[in-house]
Amino acid sequence: MASLNYKIVNVTDTGKRSILIIYTGGTFGMVQDESGALIPFNFGKAIDKIPLLRNLGLKLTVISFPIPIDSSNVGIEEWRDLAYIIEENYAQYEGFVILHGTDTMAYTASALSFMIQGLNKPIILTGAQMPIGLPRSDARENLIAALEIAASTKDRRPMVSEVCVYFNHLLLKGNRAQKIRSSTFAAFGSENYPALAEVGIEIEFNESALQPYDDKAKLKVVGDLNPNISLLRIFPGISKSAIEALITEKSIRGIILESYGSGNTMNFDWFLSLLKKATKEGKIILNVSQCMGGTVLQGKYETSKRLDEVGVLSGRDITTESALAKMMYVLGMDQKGNDLRRLLTTPLVGEMDD
Ligand code: ASP
Repeated sequence: MASLNYKIVNVTDTGKRSILIIYTGGTFGMVQDESGALIPFNFGKAIDKIPLLRNLGLKLTVISFPIPIDSSNVGIEEWRDLAYIIEENYAQYEGFVILHGTDTMAYTASALSFMIQGLNKPIILTGAQMPIGLPRSDARENLIAALEIAASTKDRRPMVSEVCVYFNHLLLKGNRAQKIRSSTFAAFGSENYPALAEVGIEIEFNESALQPYDDKAKLKVVGDLNPNISLLRIFPGISKSAIEALITEKSIRGIILESYGSGNTMNFDWFLSLLKKATKEGKIILNVSQCMGGTVLQGKYETSKRLDEVGVLSGRDITTESALAKMMYVLGMDQKGNDLRRLLTTPLVGEMDD
């Protein structure tokens, strides 16, 4: 296990269900520097800025990354830290709320859904579009609702037992969520999967969409992710040399191909030959759509028919964020050939439809 780097910054002991809040940074706790730019701020006593937290009837512990970060700087190391922090604290808490910047929250939620297996407790990521210190900030509502969801039970079992994103009244499946807006409070959506809950006067859970609770689940954290992957987003007029640079690079083992519509690409011979050369060399290519909604159907159009032939795999309705995390996770395993391809095209944690 990596050496864990975090500190406890606050504890409220007002209730029975215990939730661990992990503050990583992001707009939620940011302040403005002299130039007016938002920078991460030490969360410190931010919990005191929300006195209401003491009335939730929860026992809250807040821990913080030693140096809070803008989530644009998140990478595999931070994902591992989060996974291992949760593993280390799993037995002591009934739920986990991660405060995270919105920019890469969907990537982190996807990665954690693959890395933290055998969950029977909730892990809810949330954040804010405006810092908590501002009067109209969405930080309070997001944090309070995320905590209530993390503490929710039914028949004395946690209502949620998976990695989710909570934002602006919606609870979304973590590996289906995407940041879709940068300037309104409704920052997240999951076009291909229904919301897991809607928060109004009541919290209305969509129970049939939730991962069923499994009391035999045994926690297992996987930290081996392979970073040697790339993302090829095609566009009209893209040059052969740009594509070559991305997919023929020796160190690259997996490529997410972001195609048009229902999985279409240009069907020029030079392009298909490059894809074929890459798959022949053992690189894995997964086809995901640039559209937020819908699915990849290789063969529906003439322009996607030959993708199967050159060894491109269909990512169906997976998001790009989730496909990247899944590729890193699957390539981190000791698997080859057909087993590797099967893992990529099979839903592992609800990230794609069957
Ligand atoms: N740049 C910020 C971050 O992702 C944006 C946010 O938190 O909303 O950390």
